[in-house]
Amino acid sequence: MDWWREAECKRVHDPFFYDHRKDSSGNSCDVLMKSLVIAAKAEKCVWIPGSIVIGGGPSGLAVAACLKAKGIPSVVLERSNCIASLWQLKTYDRLHLHLPKHFCELPLMPFPSSFPTYPTKQQFVAYLEAYAREFDIRPRFSETVTSAEYDGALGFWRVKAVAMGGKEDKREYLCRWLVVATGENAEAVWPDFDGAEDFKGPILHTSLYKSGDAFRDKRVLVVGCGNSGMEVCLDLCNNTAHPSIVVRDSVHILPREMLGRSTFGLSMWLLKWLPVRMVDRLLLLLARLMLGDTARFGLPRPQVGPLELKSLSGKTPVLDVGTLARIKSGDIKVRPGVKKLLEHGAEFVDGGADRFDAVILATGYKSNVPLWLKEKELFSENDGLPRRPFPDGWKGERGLYAVGFTKRGLLGASLDARRIAQDIEQCWKAELKKIMIFACP
Ligand SMILES: Cc1cc2nc3c(=O)[nH]c(=O)nc-3n(C[C@H](O)[C@H](O)[C@H](O)COP(=O)(O)OP(=O)(O)OC[C@H]3O[C@@H](n4cnc5c(N)ncnc54)[C@H](O)[C@@H]3O)c2cc1C
Repeated sequence: MDWWREAECKRVHDPFFYDHRKDSSGNSCDVLMKSLVIAAKAEKCVWIPGSIVIGGGPSGLAVAACLKAKGIPSVVLERSNCIASLWQLKTYDRLHLHLPKHFCELPLMPFPSSFPTYPTKQQFVAYLEAYAREFDIRPRFSETVTSAEYDGALGFWRVKAVAMGGKEDKREYLCRWLVVATGENAEAVWPDFDGAEDFKGPILHTSLYKSGDAFRDKRVLVVGCGNSGMEVCLDLCNNTAHPSIVVRDSVHILPREMLGRSTFGLSMWLLKWLPVRMVDRLLLLLARLMLGDTARFGLPRPQVGPLELKSLSGKTPVLDVGTLARIKSGDIKVRPGVKKLLEHGAEFVDGGADRFDAVILATGYKSNVPLWLKEKELFSENDGLPRRPFPDGWKGERGLYAVGFTKRGLLGASLDARRIAQDIEQCWKAELKKIMIFACP
């Protein structure tokens, strides 16, 4: 059994080690043996001790770091060529964290004290890069996971990926624990508009928008009134463009700060003492005093309060950073839903129409999990989010986990990451014990 011990040692220390020698005694070496044989047969099949984390965004990094701190190896597979690709490649230049930094830090490493309360996107990315360095997390970049399936016979997850390093190259990995960290924002949502093919100007998603500089003096229709849509409008105004924002439904707009505290921090604090509806009433009272009646400007509020709505539907209130003042001043026009696009403009559901040079879709993102995960219990096939609501959606069966799908931003991801690492640690220790008993009877 010496090769067994040797294999175990290598397995623990080298994430890309696999051994395809057979146990000459013919004894069953449990799942490890089977996996080694399969690994040998399969082309480019790599056995990963510990876990595979799919996605190198903040959530994936957080899990990898928590595992590392517990001495458990993991391999992060990331489809882009950098960590936190959403932040580095798909966000606008003026983006800052929407929430104060202490609500956005990942486990085990605070933000530098020199950072402002709301770090810029560049500062956030610098923090994540330092985080990856600190925990020696080196994702396998440019590898897109195309399928992940539990192999009941082996007792392992089979993860297939396509590497895009010059020429397309298929890989297969085997692992005991699989952590899904591909995010709630994996794919941009592009609504279909009647007449889109007739529209002569550019139509782009906010994931492609960098700055209003490219739209100087242009009339721009921004579709969607979440935090991104509102902020893009402000950026367009600041760059002498003329934005209109489409507000189809109701929306809760709150000041980013109230009573000298962040609105988010104040809400969290109040929720310790008061029921959610009471906190909502207080927030709405303060918002009314500070912002006035937003319905007067075409921004009616939903019937349900902001925090209750967030927990029921995941819809985040807009934290105003100055857009509302530009709406009040008339610099940004509020329009109802789009009926159809015209050659040089748009027609709205109220019958009105206007000229536009460009359309920016602030229509959000969706999960891509149903496209590649061949498992239907943890994640819903409809929206690619965990079926069980927060805080129970982080753990599935057979070593499957979800991180960063709580609709609670980085705070939710950090909570998930800690729990997942603790859970894997328990199994890891139990399995190591079994191996030791088996290897050293
Ligand atoms: C504009 C914007 C601002 C935000 N601001 C805040 C804020 O201030 N505070 C806060 O708490 N939250 C904020 N959020 C919400 C959330 O915290 C962030 O979206 C955060 O980036 C989520 O991290 P994540 O790792 O879960 O997902 P992502 O950052 O989306 O990372 C997922 C990674 O998985 C990779 N991936 C996807 N599919 C595959 C695949 N098949 N194979 C391999 N890799 C794959 C992607 O390339 C990506 O790098 C914001 C979101 C947006 C869009």
